[in-house]
Amino acid sequence: MTPPDDQRPDRTPGLSTALIHHAYRPPAGFEAVMPGVYKASTVVFPDVHALRTNDWKDKSGYTYGLHGTPTTFTLEERIATLEGGRFCVLAPSGLSALTLVDMAFLRQGDEVLLPDNAYGPGKAFAAGELARWGITHRFYDPMNPADLAARISPATRLVWLEAPGSITLEFPDVPALVAAVRAANAGRERPIVTALDNTWGAGVAFKAFDLGVDVSMQALTKYPSGGADVLMGSVVTRDEALHRAVLLCHMRLGLGVGANDAELVLRGLPSMALRYAAQDATTRALAQWLQPRPGVARVFHPALPDSPGHDAWRRDAHAAACLVSVAFEPTIAQQRIDAFCNALRRFRLGWSWAGPISLCAPYHLPAIRTLGCVAPGGLVRFAVGLESLEDLQADLEQAWHLLLT
Ligand SMILES: *Cc1c(COP(=O)(O)O)cnc(C)c1O
Repeated sequence: MTPPDDQRPDRTPGLSTALIHHAYRPPAGFEAVMPGVYKASTVVFPDVHALRTNDWKDKSGYTYGLHGTPTTFTLEERIATLEGGRFCVLAPSGLSALTLVDMAFLRQGDEVLLPDNAYGPGKAFAAGELARWGITHRFYDPMNPADLAARISPATRLVWLEAPGSITLEFPDVPALVAAVRAANAGRERPIVTALDNTWGAGVAFKAFDLGVDVSMQALTKYPSGGADVLMGSVVTRDEALHRAVLLCHMRLGLGVGANDAELVLRGLPSMALRYAAQDATTRALAQWLQPRPGVARVFHPALPDSPGHDAWRRDAHAAACLVSVAFEPTIAQQRIDAFCNALRRFRLGWSWAGPISLCAPYHLPAIRTLGCVAPGGLVRFAVGLESLEDLQADLEQAWHLLLT
């Protein structure tokens, strides 16, 4: 039996020690197509001086896995480039990136304004958590900049935007909404921050900062990953002070992303623009195909001329994501819509989007809108995957009779 490491008379390291403190270092200069995957909780320092002075905040060094590794720094830089921003912070889901923005910029007594068609879980965070911390929230009509201007109060500190809004895909006039906030900011000690949930545009359809927002957050879960197998989010800024606020809040909350998850997103990025374009083409064709079908009251897709905000979309964006929503005639009962969704084979039932498979989900709008509702009947949101248009049309065709009989 090998004696314990510290009792060996010759001080030859024990087997475990020899394997842990192995002297071999692979040669430097290795270059491959994909960056390496660095995994760490602990990061070791060459000396005490480095331990005391290494600074991860400007990516000039490493201190602890939670504060960044070569893998996460690399992904952050690529997402910043994708968004046309300067700084990026990664979070373990899109929702955690969204709530990070709330927590970085809001304090007790503040108010946050959300578009009425905001991503649902972001509303739930405001109602559930922010309210408990003495932070109020109100909804504004994203299609009416004057409504936003009228709702801004001295307590307003953060305004969320979404382009287009969730489920009904109304495309707002982002520059006009930002202008309303800027006008209210004149003379303020703590200016109002504008934050865009840019999951839909993803940095491909338009550049958030060119439209004037301060912060662009997105769920990397969707397009940047593209695989339906990883959860991650990002917060990108151009302004260093805003970045600092996000970064310090992120560090204090202990948010981090796993190296293997970061690797999956790094793998998705090279094909992202191609996937976006392919899914855009299929979705646009499907939206047009859906419009004249029996039982359809309205199709929501920003590229359709009668979809809300079409003019703003045409002016500010040059592509559209893989989502299309269909509002059915109010005479079509919810149980028929449910039977239709159950009968689909290519469109699977599930949340999220921008992955390889097409998805659908029924919604009941009156339950999720406070400022009026664009569709009184049932609504189904389709998220188009990478299947062929013809196969998706055939799938809808074979189930359509369930809506009408
Ligand atoms: C999916 C999504 C999120 C949240 O992303 P998760 O990674 O699922 O937490 C936030 N905003 C929008 C618009 C989304 O579609």
